[in-house]
Amino acid sequence: MINGSNSMRRTLAAAAMLFLAQCSAGSSGRVPGYVVRVPLPDAGGEIGLPAIEGPAGAGRPLVVVDAGHGGHDPGASGAGRLREKNVTLALALALRDALLKDGRVRVALTRSDDRFLVLEERSGIARRLGADLFVSIHADAAESPEASGATVYTLSNRASDKVAADLASRENRADLINGVSLEEKTDSVSTILVDLSRRETARESQVFSNLVLREASGSLPFHDEPQRQAAFVVLKSLDLPSALVEAGYISNSQDARNLTDPAWRARFAARLASAIEIFLARRDVSPG
Ligand SMILES: [Zn+2]
Repeated sequence: MINGSNSMRRTLAAAAMLFLAQCSAGSSGRVPGYVVRVPLPDAGGEIGLPAIEGPAGAGRPLVVVDAGHGGHDPGASGAGRLREKNVTLALALALRDALLKDGRVRVALTRSDDRFLVLEERSGIARRLGADLFVSIHADAAESPEASGATVYTLSNRASDKVAADLASRENRADLINGVSLEEKTDSVSTILVDLSRRETARESQVFSNLVLREASGSLPFHDEPQRQAAFVVLKSLDLPSALVEAGYISNSQDARNLTDPAWRARFAARLASAIEIFLARRDVSPG
């Protein structure tokens, strides 16, 4: 299922080995004054898993929070040096802190520093950790400086409108180097069971999206159309409820001020944490 990512890692690993070999050949025994860090696969051919934080015991539900973009992929750009990858990391860390403060659920971050992750690795981390919910955090940019507010996206092969389709193609571009295409993957697995599982996952993802709106409306500015669907590679898990939250537009001056304000980020995190906790508490008591 992750041939694209594996071949990417093999290429990276080979390039790193070649680079290191060249360094040591050319340095005639001198220790180089820099460190090369390349995400090499572990023995199983997959990247290492992040730490799970929060109340001890595997019985507590687990949410995996994904800070969009990172490393050589900056995401969208705003005025000055504002980069989406830094905004998403700050929001993800704030959300982690809010969840840990409440102490009701366990949480893991796909990244807690400025590193690149292939899109499929992000939900892959959640699956391998046995997560109950996957939330990917992003910040949008639009040509119109008027566009503002948060939007919650859930997965659909058919985008709800052109704005949603355009956004999905921009977000998915992070992986074009690996030739990953959502359509290619899903067409080959069209059994009834998969379809049922996907429909149930889509339904639960929608429930979570509704909860985000319910918990955060009034405290946080939302886009005029706050809930949308599109074909995001990062959300394509068959059996894991997932949502992508665009926290606001870094191309809008008020949103940009909010996104860079620690107090606003803490408020955003508290409201989102509340939606996550309610969603996971409901799942915890429902049969099956
Ligand atoms: Zn993004």
